[in-house]
Amino acid sequence: MKMLSATLRNSTLAAGPTLRRSLATHAPFYEKDCSSITPPYAQLIEKWEHVRELLNNRPLTLAEKILYSHLNDPEKSLSGGGKIRGESYLQLTPQRVAMQDASAQMALLQFMSAGLSRCAVPTSIHCDHLIQAIDGAESDLKRSITSNEEVFDFLESAARKYGIEFWKPGSGIIHQIVLENYAAPGMLMLGTDSHTPNAGGLGLLAIGVGGADAVDAMTGTPWELKAPQVVGIHLTGKLSGWATPKDLILHLAGKLTVRGGTGRILEYFGPGVANQSCTGLATVANMGAEVGATTSTFPYTDNMRAYLNATGRAPVARAADKAASMGFLNADEGAEYDEVIEINLSELEPTINGPFTPDLATPLSKFGSFVKERGWKDELSAGLIGSCTNSSYEDMTRVAELAKQAKAAGLATKVPFLCTPGSEQIRATMERDGVINTLEDVGAVVLANACGPCIGQWKRDDMKGEENAILTSFNRNFKSRNDGNQLTMNFLASPTIVTAMAFSGSLSFNPMTDALTLPSGQLFRFTPPAGQDLPTEGFTQGNTDYYPSPTPEPQPETEVIIRADSQRLELLEPFSSHFGDRGLELPPLKVLMRVRGKCTTDHISAAGPWLKYKGHLTNISENLLITAVNDEGGNVNVAFDHDRAAGETETDTIPAVAKRFKARNQPWTLVVDDNYGEGSAREHAALQPRFYGCAMIVARSFARIHETNLKKQGVLPLWFADKADYSRIGSGDVVETIGLADLIEGRQNAAVKLKVTKRTGEVFEILTKHTMSEDQLKWFCAGSALNFIRSQMP
Ligand code: SF4
Repeated sequence: MKMLSATLRNSTLAAGPTLRRSLATHAPFYEKDCSSITPPYAQLIEKWEHVRELLNNRPLTLAEKILYSHLNDPEKSLSGGGKIRGESYLQLTPQRVAMQDASAQMALLQFMSAGLSRCAVPTSIHCDHLIQAIDGAESDLKRSITSNEEVFDFLESAARKYGIEFWKPGSGIIHQIVLENYAAPGMLMLGTDSHTPNAGGLGLLAIGVGGADAVDAMTGTPWELKAPQVVGIHLTGKLSGWATPKDLILHLAGKLTVRGGTGRILEYFGPGVANQSCTGLATVANMGAEVGATTSTFPYTDNMRAYLNATGRAPVARAADKAASMGFLNADEGAEYDEVIEINLSELEPTINGPFTPDLATPLSKFGSFVKERGWKDELSAGLIGSCTNSSYEDMTRVAELAKQAKAAGLATKVPFLCTPGSEQIRATMERDGVINTLEDVGAVVLANACGPCIGQWKRDDMKGEENAILTSFNRNFKSRNDGNQLTMNFLASPTIVTAMAFSGSLSFNPMTDALTLPSGQLFRFTPPAGQDLPTEGFTQGNTDYYPSPTPEPQPETEVIIRADSQRLELLEPFSSHFGDRGLELPPLKVLMRVRGKCTTDHISAAGPWLKYKGHLTNISENLLITAVNDEGGNVNVAFDHDRAAGETETDTIPAVAKRFKARNQPWTLVVDDNYGEGSAREHAALQPRFYGCAMIVARSFARIHETNLKKQGVLPLWFADKADYSRIGSGDVVETIGLADLIEGRQNAAVKLKVTKRTGEVFEILTKHTMSEDQLKWFCAGSALNFIRSQMP
C-alpha cells in the first residue's frame, strides 16, 4: 500500500484518482480520468451495425469492424457493391494522432499553415528519436537536449499553442507511451512512424503514416486508405521454455518475407491469443511493420483488460468489456480472411533473424551452424535490449531473472550490454523493483528512455569499419541502422536470447542446450526465465516532469519558436494558386524533365543526411530527384536548361534547374513513368516539386498514396490516356491544359487534353485521364488542401 501511495503522489496524469483493487491481476492500480481516451463505443457500434446492413449481414473480421466503424460516410465508401478489401478506397475518421520528434516537424509546419487554432483530434508529440546514446541516460539526455534545443523548442511551443500533449525528451519512446496511455481496444489511430502498429497489442488498428496523412486527421479532413486485405493468423498451442512472443513474429517474418504483408492487415485469432500478455502482443504487432503490413491486431483479451487496469485505465477497460459483450471486439463467426496462416505456438523455438534483413529467420538450434557455414567469426560484439519493441515489464523481469542466475554463478556479461527502457514509467518501475540494479550488477549500461541505438543514435567507437556481430531485441536491422557501420551484422532476437548470449560472447551459444564454463571449471546452464507480465506493486511513473498535462487547452497567444537563422526549421509559406491569365486553365508549363523508370518517394526526396532538414523545406528541396534518371540521356541527376542566360551551362543538376525555373517564375511540369511515387508515404516528395513551382505531373501511372499527396499540395496529377505519349514530350517543351476549366466547373464528361509545343515548334494535342474528386479539385483551385481548409474558416 505504501508503494501505491507513492504512485499516486507522483501522478500528474491522474485527475481525481480513485483507489481500486484489480480483480484480473495481482497489481493494485489507480484510476485516471479517461474521458478523452475512451473510444466512443456507442457511436462506433451504431456505425458498425449500419455497415452490417449495407453489407447484407455478412460476417466481418475484427479489422473490418474497426475500419468500417470509422468510415466518414459508409454509403459512399462501401457503395460499389463489389469487392471491398484490396480494392475500395475508404474515407476514415481516426480518433487520435501521435507523432515522433523527427516526423512531427513537417507535420506541424503543415498543420500551422492550415490556420486552425486546435487539432480536430487528440494529438501527442514524443521526443525520442533525437537522443544520442553515448555513455548513459543522464549525460546523453542532457547533451541531446542541448544539441537539439531548437527542434524541441519548436515542438514544445507549437504543442502549447495548439493543445497537443508534449512528451519531453526522457519521457520515453512514442509507441511504448501510446500503449501505456492512449491505446484502447477497437479504436483507429494514426502515428507518424512505421512502428505505430505496436499499439495493436491492445486490440486496435494503429497505422503508421506520413505527416500529410496525420495532418488530415489533425485538420478533420477524411483520411483515405485503400481497404487492406486481411490475413488471419490462427494461433494454437502455448509458448514454452525459451520461446517468447518475439519469436512468434521473427518466425512469421521468415515465412511472409519483408513484402508479405504489403496492403494487408495481420489479424491474429484462435486460442493461442489469450495466453499472451498484452505487451507480448504489442511486440508482435510492432514487428508486423517488418513484413510491410498496414497494421496488426488481436481480439480483446483478459490480459488486455489487466494491462488497462494496471496502467490506470480501468474506465477504458469497463467500456471495452461492454463493447466486447456486444461482439464489437472480435471477428464474427465465419468471417473470411484473404489468407489464413496456422501457427502452433507449442512448436515454436527461439529464432534469430538477420543480418541486414528481418526476414532471414534461423531457428536458434541451427544458428551456430548457420554462422559457421557463412564463415563468420563466432563472436558477439555487443548485446542490446529494450526499445519500443521489447521493453515491457515482462521482458525486463525475464532478463533480470537470467542476470540473477548468472550473477549467482559468478558470471558477468562478456560484451557491452546496453538496455534502453521504452518509457520513464518502465524505467522507474524497473528501478523500484530492483531490475536495474540486477542488470547493472552483471555489467549492463542503462541508456536514456529513447530510441538511441535502434535508430543509429549510438556513438560507438569500438568497432569502426570492422566486421562484427551484434544481437538486439529491436525490430529493424537494415545495414548500418544501429551504429552507422556497414560491416556490423545486426541480428534480431528476443531479449532473453540476447541477454543469455551476452554472457557467452559467442554466436554459436545455444542457452537451451549449451553450458557456460565457470572460472572454477564447473559447468553452468541457464534455466528458462519466466518473467512477470505486470508489476505486483503497480507501475510507478518516475519523473513526472517529463509528462504533459492531460488534454491541454490550446494557448493561441503562444509564439511558435523558430530561430531566424535556423537551418533545420522554416515556416511554410502557403503555396499560391497556379491560375493566372488563362482563367481556370493552367498557365503554359515548361517541361523540366522526363523521368525514366522506377521513381520512388526516396528518389524524389532522398533520406540519409537530408533527414536533418525535414523541417526546412528550402534546405531539403536541394535533394529534389537527385537519384532519378533522366530519360533524355539516361543520366542520374541531370537536367537541361534550354532557356539559359549567357554564361550558364545548359546541363545542370535537377534541383539546380528547378531552382532556376522558380527564380524565373516559370511554372513547370514533369513527365514520369509507371508507378511514380511508390514507396513510403513521404510528404516531402510532393512538397518539394511544388516548392520549386511544379504545377502538374503527367504519368504513365501513379502510386496512389503519392498521387493523393500531390493533390494535397496543389500539384495536378494527370495520367497519359495513351502511355506511348510519354516519349513524345521532352524537356523544354511547353504544355498547356485544355478542358481543365470544364472539369473544375463540373461539366459532365469533361476531359483534360494537353497542347504540347515542342522546342522545334511542332504542336500536337494528347488526351489525359485523372482521378480528381470534387473536393480535390477545390484543393487544387485553392493552391493546396491546407489553403482550402484555411479558406473555409469563419
Ligand atoms: Fe523506431 Fe526504434 Fe524508436 Fe521504436 S525504438 S520508434 S523502432 S527508432
